[in-house]
Amino acid sequence: MNARPETATLPIRLADYRAPAWRVERVELDFELGIDATEVAAKLLLRRDPAQDEPLRLEGEQLELLSIALDGQPLPATAWRLIEGGLEVDGARDGSVLETRVRVHPAANTALEGLYLSGPRESGFLLTQCEAQGFRHITWFPDRPDVQSTYTVTLRADRARFPVLLAGGNPDGAGELEGGRHWARFVDPHPKPSYLFALVAGRLEKIERDYRTADGRNVQLKIWAEADAIDRCHYAMDALERSMRWDEQAYGRNYDLDVFHVVATHDFNMGAMENKGLNIFNAKCLLADPDSSTDDEYRRVEAVIAHEYFHNWSGNRVTCRDWFQLSLKEGFTVFREQSFSADMNSAPLKRIEDVSLLRRAQFPEDAGPLAHPVRPAEYREINNFYTATVYEKGAELVRMLAGKLGAAGFRRGTDLYFARNDGRAATIEDFLDALGEANGIDLTPYLAWYGQAGTPRLRAHGEYDAARREYALTLSQHTPPGAGQPHKQALPIPVKLALFGADGRLLPLHLDGQTSTGGTEAVVVLDRIEQRYVFRDVATRPVPSLLRGYSAPVILECDYAPDELALLLTHDPDGFNRWEAGQQLAVRACDALRDGTPPQAVAAWCDALAALFDDAGLDADLLADLLTPPGEIELAERESVVDPTRIHMLRQQLLQHLAVRIGIDKLDARYRALAAQSTAALDAASQANRRLKQRVLQLLALLDPARACSHATVQYRHAPSMTDRLGALTVLARHDTARSAEPLAHYRAHYANDPLALDKWFALQAQLPGEGALARVQALEADPAFTLKNPNRARALLGTFASGNPTGFHRVDGAGYRLYAERLLALDALNPQIAARLATAFNGWQRLEPRRREAAHASLTALAAHDKLSRNLAEIVGNMLK
Ligand code: ZN
Repeated sequence: MNARPETATLPIRLADYRAPAWRVERVELDFELGIDATEVAAKLLLRRDPAQDEPLRLEGEQLELLSIALDGQPLPATAWRLIEGGLEVDGARDGSVLETRVRVHPAANTALEGLYLSGPRESGFLLTQCEAQGFRHITWFPDRPDVQSTYTVTLRADRARFPVLLAGGNPDGAGELEGGRHWARFVDPHPKPSYLFALVAGRLEKIERDYRTADGRNVQLKIWAEADAIDRCHYAMDALERSMRWDEQAYGRNYDLDVFHVVATHDFNMGAMENKGLNIFNAKCLLADPDSSTDDEYRRVEAVIAHEYFHNWSGNRVTCRDWFQLSLKEGFTVFREQSFSADMNSAPLKRIEDVSLLRRAQFPEDAGPLAHPVRPAEYREINNFYTATVYEKGAELVRMLAGKLGAAGFRRGTDLYFARNDGRAATIEDFLDALGEANGIDLTPYLAWYGQAGTPRLRAHGEYDAARREYALTLSQHTPPGAGQPHKQALPIPVKLALFGADGRLLPLHLDGQTSTGGTEAVVVLDRIEQRYVFRDVATRPVPSLLRGYSAPVILECDYAPDELALLLTHDPDGFNRWEAGQQLAVRACDALRDGTPPQAVAAWCDALAALFDDAGLDADLLADLLTPPGEIELAERESVVDPTRIHMLRQQLLQHLAVRIGIDKLDARYRALAAQSTAALDAASQANRRLKQRVLQLLALLDPARACSHATVQYRHAPSMTDRLGALTVLARHDTARSAEPLAHYRAHYANDPLALDKWFALQAQLPGEGALARVQALEADPAFTLKNPNRARALLGTFASGNPTGFHRVDGAGYRLYAERLLALDALNPQIAARLATAFNGWQRLEPRRREAAHASLTALAAHDKLSRNLAEIVGNMLK
């Protein structure tokens, strides 16, 4: 009963999709809730597809069967059998009612899928997680998203131990039972797949707000958390209201139940979950207050609240036919959240943040052994496919479509998509069809983006003919082979572009074959291997600004001269493009430092930024981002042989040049000016000040660590916000180990009872670069607050070490890999999803320089040789070694 089905499972293929032979029209679920044992009675009204004659098969894992009956009669043992991963039943007909009773064991559930306990057994609460395939850990069911049913759920439990009982849908009665017990019932009128089922039971507090939808429904919004956290839910409530209004205006989408619950838990595998009417959140993505949350975390809460809320339409009302279509809901919903966040905050900054994430997380995935298309063709373990490719690259694909259709056209398209697919389990094709049809455009060429893995390279080469006043731009594309796709096809790549004159002004565009000419920005779609575009009436040799707003998720290869990039960095009126030019220039500067070639790019980058540093008209937050070159992971992506220590040193060297160029006095003066304005306020300007202040302090620390650490000591002591506190602590820990000991200990004691604040304390130290990191991590593992059982804690220490500390993890002697592999094994026995996710930190090992590559290979091989690996971890490690 407890064995995992790990033995060499066959992959599941998109090409093998078959409509379900059996559906469930209605479900009634009855829970007798208990921490150690919970009994689940399920009553399923079955519908049979007359075109198929498959026997009734239901999925179920780790269920203890108590009874089974069909159409009111107990089933004899000969009429049903347990099969691999489920149950087979004879004699069912269309309209039959199947009743099962099973027992499950929440407190023993360390994998956190299905029904589990969050927190200590005396005080914790029960909750469920069913995406992707958790429902089969609760009851036998056709656990696939194209089976949609209406749910009636009754919860029974001891009232003192479980005063709050929640399930998705509208409340439909509650009352007392004998022996101090009580019950509550919920009915969800909207048919939904099983992965959107949820319940919560325990001691929880709430905050509430009334909301009236644009179409006139009164909704009660309730956010639930444990008593010590409920005061930190107000920001999420505000964000929820903003999200609901925004979706009404931007997409015409209204909420559709009388209540909307949100619950916070500290024990969660992912960020949050969009269960119908009962969203469940990792506390990290919900709780926020100035004393314990950073500015970035505030924005994250707003974004995740929006994301989960938006799923009510993109995911729930219109769901996925099968898990291969995951990006249908995730890519679209990420895009919707990105647009919302851009509207609520600074649009260029949001774009910078998202593109950085794409490059840091998705590009490496797409370039390595875990590469897969946005719509994968096969998987063994679906939980391994909640990836940056499905989410972030998927969002970029929707962005390209939206760009192609324009705002009004895209809205027409999504209106049609929602109208036509409401209540359905849809596919990516359904999405493209609706968007295209509403606009009379054939979008099928974009399907290729969904099926082809790898990041396309876009080459650009410009030639200016002064005599003819013509500028010819040749664009070409190439996607490297990989992911079992040796020959990649050409994709439609929208390239938004502009031309700048030598004086930094935008030139009017007269593009051959373009109808509207004379504007300063145009979009060309490169849909073949190579294409030449000719611009007429170009007065001087222009500097092209390409892929503006990052109009396609590709890697641009353009032989810009350093001063051309500096011109864009200085003059482009668009914040995102300006940043992008700076990133390209910084990369060139790093190359020059690496190769010892003339440092023109270094000088160009430093000079341009030094000038911008003095530009009073520039926003502080944009300046902060401009002062940040690409991270070590991004820089490593460009190398064919990776030496993480070398990359770290090069980047530090580059920053050192920048700090020198700006100068100690200016940095110090700017820091003091910004520090003098320090408050706990959350408005955009205050956040921007804090962001810039931290950048400036970090640069100052490169020149005068003692002075920077004095500033940091004072800043730590008087910090009005977590952003300031953590920023100061980071600088101290990096530049003066001795001086950081006292504030680190102070923080540890001060936040001893705040898990989220402690996670930041673990993560901060796990990130400190250099050989000492491993010993530091081992020491932190001995901290009584450390545990592998809590995903946030494991991620904070081990995940940060492996994925956020290249020099620490990639020790030449391989000790980082060995420790990490051991921990992955231990984690795998508790929580396979988390183990598999953390294992992806090994991605890219094949390109490491030989000594590290050998060591990583040895650790991975040893891991793979274990016979008890979960299917999750086995798939990741197996792919990694392919
Ligand atoms: Zn999502």
